[in-house]
Amino acid sequence: MHSSLIGKIEKAKRYAQEPERVRFSSFEATFRGEHDEYVVSYSNNQWHCTCAFFAGWNVCSHTLALHRLLTPMLPRDAAPSGASASVTTA
Ligand SMILES: [Zn+2]
Repeated sequence: MHSSLIGKIEKAKRYAQEPERVRFSSFEATFRGEHDEYVVSYSNNQWHCTCAFFAGWNVCSHTLALHRLLTPMLPRDAAPSGASASVTTA
C-alpha cells in the first residue's frame, strides 16, 4: 500500500476517537422503534420525526435518542425541544 495512504488511515483512526471534530449540519436517518420504523431528520437546527408523538409534541423518543447518540457531533444548541431535562448543561 502507498505509504502516504497508510498515514491517512492512521490519522483516520485517531480522528475516529474524537467525534467532536465532526459537526452535522443536517442528516436523515431511519429509526427502528419498538413498533415501526420512523424517519428522523435534522436540518437548520430543526428536528423532525415521522412518528405520531412528534406530531403532537415536537419531540419524541427517537429524536431524543439520536440527539444523545450524536451530541458530540451536533451544534451545542441542537437539543430537541423538551430535551433539556435529559441534557446536562455546562
Ligand atoms: Zn419519533
